[in-house]
Amino acid sequence: MQKAASKSYEPKQSRLKRTVSFSKKFTNIFFHILTRCNLSCRHCYINPDQHGKQTLSLSDIESWLRVFSAHRKSANLIFLGGEPTLHPDLSLAIRKARELGFGSVTVDTNGYLFNDILQRVTPEEVEYFSFSLDGPDPETNDPIRGRGSFEKCVSGIYKAVSRGFHASLIYTVSRTNIHQLHRMPAMLEKWGVKRLFIQVIGLRGQSARSPQTPAEGLQVSYDQWLSVVPNVAETAARIGLTVSYPKVYLESHEPFFCAGLEADNYFIFPNGRVYRCPLCEDYPLHSLQIRENRLVKMPPINEKDLFDLSIPEGCVMNKIIQPHNICYDSQGVPKYRVACCLLKEEIRPPLIGSDKDCIPHLN
Ligand code: SF4
Ligand code: SF4
Repeated sequence: MQKAASKSYEPKQSRLKRTVSFSKKFTNIFFHILTRCNLSCRHCYINPDQHGKQTLSLSDIESWLRVFSAHRKSANLIFLGGEPTLHPDLSLAIRKARELGFGSVTVDTNGYLFNDILQRVTPEEVEYFSFSLDGPDPETNDPIRGRGSFEKCVSGIYKAVSRGFHASLIYTVSRTNIHQLHRMPAMLEKWGVKRLFIQVIGLRGQSARSPQTPAEGLQVSYDQWLSVVPNVAETAARIGLTVSYPKVYLESHEPFFCAGLEADNYFIFPNGRVYRCPLCEDYPLHSLQIRENRLVKMPPINEKDLFDLSIPEGCVMNKIIQPHNICYDSQGVPKYRVACCLLKEEIRPPLIGSDKDCIPHLN
């Protein structure tokens, strides 16, 4: 995010919109079972130096799931990577999670769907396959995600939907594709996708794979974000999609909350690090670690020590690692506060769904 203006942007019609409050009633477990991937997307946040290079064995996955099993009934469990379908035992991991009682299992994928995953699991076992795609055509998507990735992803969506799976889509907005976002609702309707997660580049730290292209250079401005994203979300909801997107900026009357204090999220990596804040993932700031199949607290200083700090700019981590996201007036007062990166706006079609659909996907 960049420069702020004092304009107030209102989508054309906002009666279906709500801010999804943080809650400890539901747990979101983002389980990176490997960091390997067949693609090298420009904005990828996976950093093997910080997150490990190993592929967890099925037995480690099971043991680590047991570590979190106290939360299982209220948990949204999301398997991700890297590309999780590269894991030869993903189907068994999903089955194991279900046997252990995890209430909802989602797979975030780039759409290549390796290891015949669609033949090896059922729609009863996987609540959603969530596909990452960054444009409505190859010309927009492929320079970001790699040549051929558009065709492959769309073909994966069709295959999943034709087999009876629910499909959702994650669109990461940057300067290179925000102008094409408005074309997505009609495409998603055609493809049979039920939910759209709009993400914004930079909210999960810097790209690890393209350090020569810092997120700062790809991030959309305050004006671009607010003039485009809410209206596209409204359009998508009107044709039947559930849409969520990061709030990013707080209005002056809106309270600031840090998900590290108010929500129950775990971001697990194959090297055993467990974070509560995704913006901390590029640093050894994890507050928890899995050791010998137990969750242990890390000594200070870690991310937890930052959550309580109150600053006029809003999110402390954003201020530390992405100071270019903030804009100040001539008195040095921030023109706006940056919300927690996990705070979402959600727009639903009328009378559809339940709170458990609100999985804050990030990939
Ligand atoms: S963003 Fe996802 S699909 Fe792209 S390189 Fe990273 S892990 Fe792979
Ligand atoms: S992004 Fe900011 S507000 Fe959200 S959990 Fe991290 S430190 Fe807290």
